[in-house]
Amino acid sequence: MIPSCVLVHQKWRRMPLPSGMGGNAPRRQADRPTGDTIQLTCILNLWYTACMKQTLLVKLTPTPEQRAALVRTLETFNAACNDMAATAFAEQCANKVDLQKLVYYDIRERFGLSSQMTIRAIAKVVEAYKRDRTIQPHFRPHGAMVYDERICRFTGPGRISLLTLDGRADIPFRFGAYAAGRLERMRGQADLLYCKRSATFFLSVTVDAPEPTPEEPADYLGIDLGIIALAATSDGEFLNYSTGPKHAHVNQVRARYSRFRAKLQKKGTKSAKRLLKKRSGRERRFVKDVNHCLSKAMVSTAKGTSRGIALEDLKHIRERIRAKQTVTGKRQRRVLHSWAFAQLRAFIAYKAQLAGVRVVLVDPRNTSRTCSHCGHCEKANRKSQAKFLCVVCGFSAHADLNAAVNIGRRAAVIPPDVAPRAG
Ligand SMILES: [Zn+2]
Repeated sequence: MIPSCVLVHQKWRRMPLPSGMGGNAPRRQADRPTGDTIQLTCILNLWYTACMKQTLLVKLTPTPEQRAALVRTLETFNAACNDMAATAFAEQCANKVDLQKLVYYDIRERFGLSSQMTIRAIAKVVEAYKRDRTIQPHFRPHGAMVYDERICRFTGPGRISLLTLDGRADIPFRFGAYAAGRLERMRGQADLLYCKRSATFFLSVTVDAPEPTPEEPADYLGIDLGIIALAATSDGEFLNYSTGPKHAHVNQVRARYSRFRAKLQKKGTKSAKRLLKKRSGRERRFVKDVNHCLSKAMVSTAKGTSRGIALEDLKHIRERIRAKQTVTGKRQRRVLHSWAFAQLRAFIAYKAQLAGVRVVLVDPRNTSRTCSHCGHCEKANRKSQAKFLCVVCGFSAHADLNAAVNIGRRAAVIPPDVAPRAG
């Protein structure tokens, strides 16, 4: 059940969203490495150029007539998109202006879309086709529709006027306390989303988020994102939790999902695949929830103690784990690949930015082999995955906590202008 109004996630308009998040990008296989590194790099690059945008999800409460008009509009819009996609694919046309010349009048006449809706449909088709020119894009009948300032307008608190095929409809929407404070920053652009199962319309509205200038912190909270616990902090704390009692033990839940997935994949029947798809949605929501909780906890700890946050620059974490071809390596690989660390890091980055907390990425080399007590670095210091014992000074700690202290310390010694910043 989706609450009537939640902050979904920070949205980078140029990036295709996975289908589960309202976009048209192909759904990922649950077991496939997710290309997180690429995604994170995109986020970090955009960080410097894009101003902070968030999306708020508000629930529309249309009358039955308005609902019917919206459904018809959405279906017609997507049908028109599919029609144009065939043309774009046949003509190898990935340019908005060119495609417009080819289809504009024909589409308006046959589908009855308004001129601005037609332009929006063309943009949607071109964007999808550009992503992969080897296939003809296909759009779901109730795929998202972009409403820009020409076809939608906020007419009052909690009301929005949307253009439909039956004319303009002034539709009330519901929002909670969280969105109430952000309503005045809503801009005239929104995605209309339809959840067929609950027959509910949502608007995903872009808002400009205030960005407090991050303070120059004197100290950093070091965070080691890891395999045994999802996160260890330089305060000596393990963060590994989620909301709700049934999600109390993230590792147990992860292991259960992992076993379940392995079983179904081995089976490989049609019904097993169907079940796998269904479960992958549930697992993805669980992961996202945990990531929100973890990042929130980290940012509030850092904010409360006037510190920045230090993370490892983990561009190559997957390769590093892949390199270990031992039995434990295999187990770690499974655990690591099954967690969306890039999502967690992106959540940390945007929550930190909103809170005015600086995030710094540090060189990850030897963070787990260096003694946080005396600074001695040697492979033998790391006795096992979990245990750190310095061969020189005898300092002993949990390996992840020791690493977290090193990470925090590394951030503190980097001159502020040189450190790669994530916020
Ligand atoms: Zn030592």
